[in-house]
Amino acid sequence: MSKEIPRVKIGIIGGSGLYSPDFLEDVQEIKVYTPYGPPSSDIMIGHIRGVKVAFLPRHGKKHSIPPHKINYRANIWALRELGVERLISVSAVGSLREEYKPGDFVCTDQFIDMTKNRVYTFYDGPVVAHVSMADPFCPELRRFCLDAARELNIKVHEKGTYVCIEGPRFSTRAESKLWRQFGADIVGMTLVPEVNLAREARMCFLNIAMVTDYDVWAEKPVTAMEVARVMSENTEKVRRLLVALVPRIPEKRGCQCAHYLDEALL
Ligand SMILES: [Zn+2]
Repeated sequence: MSKEIPRVKIGIIGGSGLYSPDFLEDVQEIKVYTPYGPPSSDIMIGHIRGVKVAFLPRHGKKHSIPPHKINYRANIWALRELGVERLISVSAVGSLREEYKPGDFVCTDQFIDMTKNRVYTFYDGPVVAHVSMADPFCPELRRFCLDAARELNIKVHEKGTYVCIEGPRFSTRAESKLWRQFGADIVGMTLVPEVNLAREARMCFLNIAMVTDYDVWAEKPVTAMEVARVMSENTEKVRRLLVALVPRIPEKRGCQCAHYLDEALL
C-alpha cells in the first residue's frame, strides 16, 4: 500500500545556523526521490500556527555539504514535488557596507552571480527556457516579511544586492572591494542557483539574509567567537520571524511568480 504524500505549499530552506525544524510543530520526515539524486536531507514537514510547512536544511542536518556541492536541482525538485509554491530561503551573509551591520537582516531584492561551476537550470534541452530574472524575488513575500519584521522590531534592510560567490573559500580583499564597486551590499555562497531554479519551478522566492560579519574589505578583525555569537542570535531571531511571517501568507498568490516560465517557453 502506498503512503499518501502530504501536500505543502510553503517551503523553508535553512542556511548556516538553521538546521533544525524546532520552530515547527508535529514534525514528520519524508524521503523524496528526484531525477537529480537525493536532496540535502529528508524533508521535514510540520506546522507553524496551523500552517503546513516543509523544511530543508541546505547544508544537510549536520552541515556536511559545502555550497559548491549542494544538489540545488534536487532540493528545488523535491520541494516542488511536495507542492511547494512559496519558498523562503534563509542564508548567512557577510556585509559589504558599513550600514549593513552584523546582526541586521536583509530582505534581498537583487543579486549578482559570480559563481563558476554550478548547474543553473532544469532546461538542459531539447526544451530551452530563458527565464526573466529582472525582479528575482516575490514582491508579495517581501512585503509580508518586512511587515512581520517590523512587528517584531527586528532590524531588516528593505533592499540589498547579494553577490553570490563560488566558495567554499572567502573573497580576497581585492575581490571584496570589487563587489562593492559592483554595487553589491552583501556576499554569500548559496543564493544562486537556488533562486533561478525556484523560478523555473514556478515558485515565489524570498531570501532572508542574516549579516554575520563585515567582509574583508573593512579590514576589521573579527574573532570566530564574535561571529558565532552573532550567528546564534541571528538564528534565534529568524525563528521568531518565520513564526510571524508564515501565517501572514495567504493561500492564493497575487503575484506573477508562477507565470515567468510560460513567457520563457513561448
Ligand atoms: Zn510570488
